[in-house]
Amino acid sequence: MSELNPFKIAQAQFDEAAEILGLEPAMREILRWPRREYKFTIPVKMDDGTTKVFHGYRVQYNDARGPTKGGLRWHPDETIDTVRALAAWMTWKTSVVDIPLGGGKGGVTCNPKELSDGEKQRLARGWMRVIASELGEHRDSPAPDVYTTPQIMAWMMDEFEVIAGRNHPAVITGKPIPLGGSQGRGDATARGGIYTVREACKILDIDPKGTYAVQGFGNAGQFAALLHQEILGGGKLIAVSDSRGGIYVEGGMDPEAIVKHKLDTGKVGDFPGSKPITNEELLELDVDILYPAALENVITEKNAANIKCKISCEMANGPTTPEADVILHEKGIHVIPDFLANAGGVTVSYFEQVQGTYNYYWTLADVHKQLDAKITKAYHDVYEMHKEKNVHMRTAAYLVAVARVAEAVKLRGWV
Ligand code: NAD
Repeated sequence: MSELNPFKIAQAQFDEAAEILGLEPAMREILRWPRREYKFTIPVKMDDGTTKVFHGYRVQYNDARGPTKGGLRWHPDETIDTVRALAAWMTWKTSVVDIPLGGGKGGVTCNPKELSDGEKQRLARGWMRVIASELGEHRDSPAPDVYTTPQIMAWMMDEFEVIAGRNHPAVITGKPIPLGGSQGRGDATARGGIYTVREACKILDIDPKGTYAVQGFGNAGQFAALLHQEILGGGKLIAVSDSRGGIYVEGGMDPEAIVKHKLDTGKVGDFPGSKPITNEELLELDVDILYPAALENVITEKNAANIKCKISCEMANGPTTPEADVILHEKGIHVIPDFLANAGGVTVSYFEQVQGTYNYYWTLADVHKQLDAKITKAYHDVYEMHKEKNVHMRTAAYLVAVARVAEAVKLRGWV
């Protein structure tokens, strides 16, 4: 497939699972398309007095297993097809970790790096005003994704509450803790991924204290770098990158020092004692564990043959194309697929919703324990399917997830 449209990729991945599961045509049709999608304009008063019109999206992909849930991405390349793909993956993600939610996603085409805090707040509130009537903890609830933050979630929750005229903390997750955020949400995505790596290392007899590299040094990537050492008891981080390029240190670097350097300078580049490396070179390093934690389509048929890691733990959504998946599988690389590897975020978002609905909040230890249980079970469900059907890990994850959603669709009598 030369096509890198993420929604076409998501549909191709689904089609393969549907074929193996022998789903009937109507079931395939309902599961390969979003149930509802919204595309709208958001006028925002800019600091210079002009009005700029942004394009916003919300896709509610499937709600057979529960209300839809999924993050909001603010990115210049955001399109309806990216949102559809991410919403489909959210559907499979909530299903693979077996939480009672469906999948959705949303976003705005914009470059947040060019917006002031005031403009971001007006954009967040404007997005919410257009779509508030279609949201709610029993319908659809957003969360953060690329370039959206707890502060943006707080403004959106506030706007929703103004419209609803009452307190509504569970409408949105990833909020700051004083506004009903959950303990442990900040690092949950990466933590879940590290739990899956821990399980994979045990099964495959790989030493987690070997080398690792992280592509994309944002929320998911930074916490993956830190928690790899904390949870797995060591490991040598030899390369990291962000949108401006990467750095390499043969003897390994201290993840905390890189996080601080990125905070101070806004980039990972120029870290003292490091050599520059491109994002492409980073992916092809000979490391034990690779964490693609940036954006889609970075491992393709062009570079898959050069990938050398033992485990690729996909913190990012959609980093590997279907053709590359086959090549990695043939090379014996153990891929922990995105919607399993990064399901920790939505799992703790679900915990946040539960806590907000009860108005009773858990301790950090409670959150970690419940997250570990959910993710560990999900990893083993997928691994067993991978062995039983002799398919690669992504297809195995699809088989587990799609079968559960199809069962809910059937029980509801939709098909
Ligand atoms: P983020 O905005 O915190 O960070 C994104 C990082 O990627 C930044 O460091 C940026 O510089 C870097 N980046 C952007 N373009 C790049 C490029 N072309 N090459 C290399 N690096 C690049 O975003 P995040 O929340 O960490 O999300 C990263 C990935 O993880 C996305 O695919 C997202 O969908 C996925 N994810 C995140 C969460 C979450 O809870 N944060 C949950 C599930 C999945």
